[in-house]
Amino acid sequence: MTLEEKVGKTLSELGATDTQGVESLFAEVRAAMESERQELVSCEVEKEEHGKLCRALRDRWLARKNGIISLIDENWLKKAPKELKPVVGRQFNELRQAAAPMELEELLRAVPRKITLAASIAATASVRADLTSDLTLPGYRRPLGSIHPVTRVLREIEEIFLGLGFTIEIGPEVESVYYNFDALNIPETHPSRDDWDTLYIDSKTLLRTHTSPVQIRSMEKYGAPLYIIVPGKVYRHDNPDSSHATMFHQIEGLAVDKDITFADLKGTLDFFAKKFFGERVRTRFSPSFFPFTEPSGEVSISCVICDGQGCRTCKESGWLEVMGCGMVHPEVLRHGGIDPEQYTGWAFGLGAERYAMMKYGINDIQLFYQSDVRFLEQFS
Ligand SMILES: [Zn+2]
Repeated sequence: MTLEEKVGKTLSELGATDTQGVESLFAEVRAAMESERQELVSCEVEKEEHGKLCRALRDRWLARKNGIISLIDENWLKKAPKELKPVVGRQFNELRQAAAPMELEELLRAVPRKITLAASIAATASVRADLTSDLTLPGYRRPLGSIHPVTRVLREIEEIFLGLGFTIEIGPEVESVYYNFDALNIPETHPSRDDWDTLYIDSKTLLRTHTSPVQIRSMEKYGAPLYIIVPGKVYRHDNPDSSHATMFHQIEGLAVDKDITFADLKGTLDFFAKKFFGERVRTRFSPSFFPFTEPSGEVSISCVICDGQGCRTCKESGWLEVMGCGMVHPEVLRHGGIDPEQYTGWAFGLGAERYAMMKYGINDIQLFYQSDVRFLEQFS
């Protein structure tokens, strides 16, 4: 008896008069359904033909009129004797759930995946065949990265000062107003405290505008004597142009000891300039003003392009300003917990981007932050 014939008869006509008989009938139906589905899924036919077969199988099982499941509903469930109704109902529900994969979209979905998989295996195999076909071809070359010019300059400066016995200190970029301004003797009225120059987070917190807060932090931490340099990022409320950026790198230097004089400052910075820019370089100190040093100065070097003759880079002056410096203000030492009657010190600060620009002849600070490989790979 075929399945179609069976579902056209009632349970009693089929001799299924108890639970066991009913269960084995339903098991037979479920097995038949699954095997027909498997057969379709694994058959190898054209896509169009496959769609037709899927529709036919779906209709055979799920069609409202004369679908196998509808016929079971009609002939087995509805016509079941009262005592068998619960078990037939339960079996019928299970069958309906098991029939979910017979829905058209499920049937269609099951097969393209197989086709795709087979196609991709075939494609991979052919690629592999290509790759292994000529072993004399050169291998893939991965370009080596290089150190960013600003990092390069920072490291070079660090090396020079490490050689002089300085140590490296770092500090937070999100800084308190106290460390950034108050402790450095920068009064409330100073224009650099203005919103236009400083990026504030709230009234007591800001993005540090210089690395100098680390002077105070280090004096508090280590006391005197102290010889440190402080490399790091600083932030300004500046409009970006070829010589300004909202973030750039500074290196701060601080020496605190007994009997430190301005002559020590001049000697150290002259030595540094010759090490960094070359032995021919001459240094020039001119008076300036910073709230945290007294006296304060600007350091210029003889132009590295024209050797002091005058050119466009040095604006015909023959000199390039390279850093600010000075003797540490007694108030600043006091804020760091150091007695200015016993100790003196000097400090300097420079911008690493500017040094990289001078050293490599770069005319736009923005180039450092654009991550353009064509620019960066020139420094490898
Ligand atoms: Zn010049």
